[in-house]
Amino acid sequence: EYRRVVEENRKLYNQVQDLKGNIRVYCRVRPFLGGHSNRPSIVDRIDQGNMSIMTPSKYGKEGRKSFSFNKVFGPSATQGEVFSDTQPLIRSVLDGYNVCIFAYGQTGSGKTHTMSGPAELTEDTVGVNYRALSDLFVLSQQRRQTISYDISVQMLEIYNDQIRDLLVTDSSNRRLEVRNSSQNGINVPDACLVPVSSTADVINLMNLGQNNRAVSSTAMNDRSSRSHSCLTVHVQGRDLATGATLRGCMHLVDLAGSERVDKSEVIGDRLKEAQHINKSLSALGDVIASLAQKTAHVPYRNSKLTQLLQDSLGGQAKTLMFIHISPEPEALGETLSTLKFAERVATVELGAARVNKDSTESKELKEQIASRKVALVKKD
Ligand code: ADP
Ligand code: MG
Repeated sequence: EYRRVVEENRKLYNQVQDLKGNIRVYCRVRPFLGGHSNRPSIVDRIDQGNMSIMTPSKYGKEGRKSFSFNKVFGPSATQGEVFSDTQPLIRSVLDGYNVCIFAYGQTGSGKTHTMSGPAELTEDTVGVNYRALSDLFVLSQQRRQTISYDISVQMLEIYNDQIRDLLVTDSSNRRLEVRNSSQNGINVPDACLVPVSSTADVINLMNLGQNNRAVSSTAMNDRSSRSHSCLTVHVQGRDLATGATLRGCMHLVDLAGSERVDKSEVIGDRLKEAQHINKSLSALGDVIASLAQKTAHVPYRNSKLTQLLQDSLGGQAKTLMFIHISPEPEALGETLSTLKFAERVATVELGAARVNKDSTESKELKEQIASRKVALVKKD
């Protein structure tokens, strides 16, 4: 009886999640750094999922631009608050869903803060990655009477469209390939796959991965902001009563900085890096936009990043994009281009839209869509 109730709750819960749409966009506004908290922010209003940006007169026409997302976190939002709105999505990986969580934004906007946390980690400041795994351990323990779970992780970096294993100390010469046809859901079979069962295991691995990333960054001047890093969590569950197995996979991705590099100012390696970042972020935007619009062809093959994540984007998979913006007026240009990217991936078509043709759609969902600002549906 208990099992049946749990099962029903879980189903219902997942239906609600599915109904809400498989692509969610959260925006997080970073606070001012280094005691500049009384400077005026360009973000002047935040209310649930709505926010507006002030464009000061010295940056062109003065005015206010409004944006809507599934959720907006202001500068005082804590790591715990951000996580609690992400937790249900993360938990669905134990039910066999594939999940992708991205951090997008210009360098310095807070991507690593959200995903990993600040340099000085405490229980309060740790980010989504660590919290996600701790939560999966707790939940899998709670279910241990009915399902036995195995959880393992991979840590990869994509730099210049090449995949590197962050859990191997010197893997600079080893090129890893993506295989989307694998049977067991592990699409980079040559990368280390490490079983984890405690938060201590996770901390050790994250430190190892971070050190391996740092080794190259001294040689190449903060490479971490010019590569994508991806923590992949593979979950396998076996129903103790029936023997049935389920698989879920979650990618937690700290993307390369989205800032545009002035081509006239960079040459050589730096230009090549910039072009790769540009290409892979556009490819990601194209894939998510085409999923949001439910187009027939989804262009996964245009970058290593989208190939790597293919099984976890679209279909039954759930996607969450954390968009990061800075409060400084100096960052206005990049902030607007970040918000423009976000609008594109969050596009919900109104009117004769496909969304409305879906007869299973609830009143709540319709209201949610209707309440979105015009900014969301505007196309350029
Ligand atoms: P990114 O990874 O996008 O380049 P970081 O996460 O490294 O940016 O953030 C830049 C700096 O701002 C870091 O010192 C970080 O700790 C700080 N920071 C970012 N977001 C927040 C936040 N929400 N609260 C407090 N400090 C933050
Ligand atoms: Mg970073």
